Amino acid sequence: VKMERLQKILANAGVASRRKCEELILSGKVMVNDEVVTTLGTKADPNVDVITVNGKTIGAEKKVYLVFNKPKGVITSASDPQGRKIVTDYLKGIKERLYPVGRLDYDTEGLLILTNDGDFAHLLTHPKHHVSKTYLATVKGVPHGTELDKLKQGIMLEDGITAPAEVEYHDIDPEGKQSTISITIHEGRNRQVRRMFDAISHPVLKLKRISFGDLFLGNLKRGIYRHLTKEEVEGLY
Ligand code: URA
Repeated sequence: VKMERLQKILANAGVASRRKCEELILSGKVMVNDEVVTTLGTKADPNVDVITVNGKTIGAEKKVYLVFNKPKGVITSASDPQGRKIVTDYLKGIKERLYPVGRLDYDTEGLLILTNDGDFAHLLTHPKHHVSKTYLATVKGVPHGTELDKLKQGIMLEDGITAPAEVEYHDIDPEGKQSTISITIHEGRNRQVRRMFDAISHPVLKLKRISFGDLFLGNLKRGIYRHLTKEEVEGLY
C-alpha cells in the first residue's frame, strides 16, 4: 500500500497542478470509492482506490506490453547511479512508466519484456510459474556431452541444485576454442546460466536470450522494441 495525499495523486496523474487539484477537491468534484471527498488531507492508495474527477476515473492507464531486444552493455533497472545506459533510454516513444519482467545482466543481450501491468509482471516472474527461457550461450571451449548431461539433470550451485534444463549443441568452432550451446531453463536465479557453465568450467563469453515462454525474439533488431499483440500477451499467461 502506498497511501498518498489525494491532491498529490491527482497532480501526479496529470489532472492539473497541485493547487488546482486542491480546488477540485474542495469544490466536491473528486470521489474516492464512490464517496465525495472534500477534506484536503485525505489519503488514498492510487493503485487500489478508485478515484474520479468529474466522474472520470484517473489512473486507468492503458496497459502496455513490449518486447525489446536489449543490447549488451545496458542495465535493466530504471536508473543507474553510475550513469550507464538503461533500457528506458531506448523507449523514447513510450510515455507510460514500464518495468522489466525479470532481468538480464548488463552483459546479456536479447529478449526482454517490459510492461506497466504489475500483475502480469509479478505472475511471470513468480518462481512457481516456471516460465521457460531459452538462451544461446557462447562458451569457452567445447563442453563434453557428459558435462552437458550434468546441466540437463541439474547441477549444484551455491544456492542449490538447478532444475532440469534442456541443453543442445548449437554451433561448434572447428578449432574448438568456443562453442554455442542452447539452454532452456525454467527458473530465474541471478546469473543462473553463467553460473551453470562456470560449474562445468566452460565460462560464458556471450549470452543472448532468444525466447521467453511462447514468445521468440525472432528478427527484432538490437536496441529495438515492438508492442506485443493481444494473442502474444494472452499466450504468456
Ligand atoms: N542467466 C544469466 O546468467 N544471465 C542472464 O542475464 C540471464 C540468465
